[in-house]
Amino acid sequence: MGRLIVVSNRVNPPSDASVGTQGGLAMALSAALREENGIWFGWSGQTTEAFTGHLSIQKIGGVTVALTDLEAQDVQEYYNGYANRTLWPLFHYRTDLVAFERSFDEGYLRVNQRFADTLFPLVEKEDLLWVQDYHLLPLASMLRKHGVSNRIGFFLHIPWPAMRVFQTLPKHRELVETLFDYDLLGFQTEDSLNAFQEYVVHAADGERLPDGRLRAFGKTIRAGAFPIGIDSEDFTAAATSDKALAFYNLMRNSQAGRKMITGVDRLDYSKGLEERFLAYEQFLNNHPRMEGEVFLMQIATATREEVNTYQELRARLDSLSGRINGEHATIDWVPVRYVNRAYRRDELAGIYRASHVGLVTPLRDGMNLVAKEFVAGQDERDPGVLILSEFAGAAAQMQAALIVNPFDRQAMAEAIAEAVHMPLKERRQRHEDLMRGVMAEDVVWWRNDFVAKLKDEGEVTPDGDTF
Ligand code: ADP
Repeated sequence: MGRLIVVSNRVNPPSDASVGTQGGLAMALSAALREENGIWFGWSGQTTEAFTGHLSIQKIGGVTVALTDLEAQDVQEYYNGYANRTLWPLFHYRTDLVAFERSFDEGYLRVNQRFADTLFPLVEKEDLLWVQDYHLLPLASMLRKHGVSNRIGFFLHIPWPAMRVFQTLPKHRELVETLFDYDLLGFQTEDSLNAFQEYVVHAADGERLPDGRLRAFGKTIRAGAFPIGIDSEDFTAAATSDKALAFYNLMRNSQAGRKMITGVDRLDYSKGLEERFLAYEQFLNNHPRMEGEVFLMQIATATREEVNTYQELRARLDSLSGRINGEHATIDWVPVRYVNRAYRRDELAGIYRASHVGLVTPLRDGMNLVAKEFVAGQDERDPGVLILSEFAGAAAQMQAALIVNPFDRQAMAEAIAEAVHMPLKERRQRHEDLMRGVMAEDVVWWRNDFVAKLKDEGEVTPDGDTF
């Protein structure tokens, strides 16, 4: 039996999993690798004067971790540059925010080459390789040039954008060509899968074979939708832990009988935070009697602070929350509690549990794990209501939420009103439906499904839909 080698930009050892500040990818992989006899390969997060290719190999929480340092220029061009200033906004449909700089392209390819050069000596004949996310799209093609003929899978945690959006990327075709060196491509949703297939067929002169495989650039690959889940059982347990209970009590005491509408996000323009604040303000304007009866608790942890767009967004949110509070607050009520800190997972679970409404309204999101955590954190006897954007990947699996269009301020305001007033029976019914999905389609299900499909080259479904 070969090993599983997971490759991702950052490697967050499983022992850090409970801290809960690393974002969806790290949380999912820590849970997935906990029981695997695998290697997790990636950037150490450290910089070095000159790249040496030296690997630091250690065992953490039962997982062998192999880490490489990068040069400061690498981090600037590959991570802050191409990954976070080119691909991230582009794949989230924000072509207005995309930076196209040649040095970013060069840095991106250089770092992927460095990953390939340091990784390939570790690879043994039977190993399965599983590459994660948009930082490493061309990695397989570089490994192939080293003669690596192992199965290599790729999973994209963020959306794959519509064809015409993707085509705004210079050298889009070259990038897609490198994806044809994988054996299996995984997307979060059918929507992303379809967008990729459309590009292959209509922009890359490729075709979709009757068995569902994709053929282009003289190569044939498989692609499918594999919606990622959370470590549902652990999260549910965390929600009734002592720490969670302490946070639950803290929140309930400070609510003074008011209903708490909660948002938990990284501070990112894809999360629709401004639209959310404005919709909440609209709700207050539409329902003046709700003033003093509810409050918005928005936790937004700052990320990517070296990127200007993020600094600007933060300033706008500071100003917007200040304005709403200035206009609506009374001497004994603050309508928006806005917090830029990170919390531990069990603390977050307690906060979710103390919430009456969860507002998860990204403008675009590959999946959105907060939506699933919110559901897993609820007390089934008296559950809160999830309001979920139709543009979060999670919406495909979570139709029992109140589904909203985050660009429609009035509709969001009315969804908040509906959630705040929803009778217990309906809340329970919706929560039960949502919980069933969150428990069944968890992160282990996701990993098993992907790895099984990566191992099994022959399988196709009769309708040729995905496999
Ligand atoms: P993304 O990966 O884009 O950040 P997801 O919703 O998929 O979005 O994943 C976010 C993860 O980060 C979740 O596990 C969530 O609990 C965690 N997270 C988000 N904000 C905070 C915060 N303020 N403190 C702690 N963890 C957070």
